[in-house]
Amino acid sequence: MRKISSVFLSFFLLTAHDARPTGVFAATAPTIRVAILQDIPAARVTVLGPCRLTDLRTGALIGNWPNLKWQEVQVGNGGLRIGGTSVNAQAVLLEPVRGEILRINARPYRGSLIFYRTSAGKLTIVNQLDLEEYLVGALASEVGFNWPLEALKAHAVVSRTMVAHRIWIQRDRPFDVTADVSTHLYHGVSSEREETRAAGKATKGQVLAYAGEVLSATFHANCGGHTEDASELWEVKGDPTPLKGRPDPYCRDLKHFRWRANISTKAFGDLLQKEGQPIGEIQSYEILERNASGRVRSIRFVGSQGTMTLTGRKFRELLGANRLKSLNFTLALSPRGVSFDGFGWGHGVGLCQWGAYGMAVQGSQMDDILSFYFPGAERRKLQGLPGFTAA
Ligand SMILES: [Zn+2]
Repeated sequence: MRKISSVFLSFFLLTAHDARPTGVFAATAPTIRVAILQDIPAARVTVLGPCRLTDLRTGALIGNWPNLKWQEVQVGNGGLRIGGTSVNAQAVLLEPVRGEILRINARPYRGSLIFYRTSAGKLTIVNQLDLEEYLVGALASEVGFNWPLEALKAHAVVSRTMVAHRIWIQRDRPFDVTADVSTHLYHGVSSEREETRAAGKATKGQVLAYAGEVLSATFHANCGGHTEDASELWEVKGDPTPLKGRPDPYCRDLKHFRWRANISTKAFGDLLQKEGQPIGEIQSYEILERNASGRVRSIRFVGSQGTMTLTGRKFRELLGANRLKSLNFTLALSPRGVSFDGFGWGHGVGLCQWGAYGMAVQGSQMDDILSFYFPGAERRKLQGLPGFTAA
């Protein structure tokens, strides 16, 4: 239905003297690269204004368009195809000349877009934008924009810290973060709110630092009454003081503090079978170990045909992180199936989102919240810390 006219596209191939730096890490103000769509066959891009396309690797200018309307981007013969034009490159940068909003499949984004042809011959789209602009949308994708300002400010600092740490350690990879729950939710411009912009502005450029470096900070929805040691989830170098678990009275009885789940005997048996040999009808279980925060470290099931021992993490992965919302649970077997009774939602490390909300409602300020969840960490300017140029 969309016929591409040559006037409309005005695509010009240009020579190498137009080469320019890609600027991924050249900018003084930090930028972030967010993988918004991964391993897809194609997408539609729109830019309502002049835009240019460059080869990400060499910086060479490939072409210009006066605008792009609902044009298909897909992998082509050995490269990419944009708006019906073949591009002989594995990664290209599309930048609006006047800073217009870009759209991917109608969803608006700021900054620029990088299209990658993956080794599997699929398309991955990365949104590259100013870190502060990213945070305005990312914050409202994670928590309610109507939360108390002090909780939003604390979360802004934690989100900035978390993604800055990714920017620092992932600089050799094609992107810093994904846009889903595996790192930080991000839905683009449409999530931006005045309230999250205010929280971003009030904490502009500020992160948590520890031992002179950006802290490997993170967050979760609700800790269920006790946050988790980071060392339970990943290797922590040096003194992990700010990332140690502690009792948290502030999230009690707030959203996601308590959960229940049921699974039928048949479905449960099928899930366990995915992990190894069938063990027959489940007859009993034993929680072999809980860690200091009360979360299950290992669990054993005894069936009519054998036994199976799983780590808590593996067990949660098998059942699904949205069904087994945390590892702080008890369970009961019955002829109908398995019922779980648990506390909290998420891995439990770092900032407890609902605890931060609870503290702010009780009158705590941003720094009270940050020092409760990250004791010993300092709130500092990102610029000048290792990996980030001074302002
Ligand atoms: Zn909590």
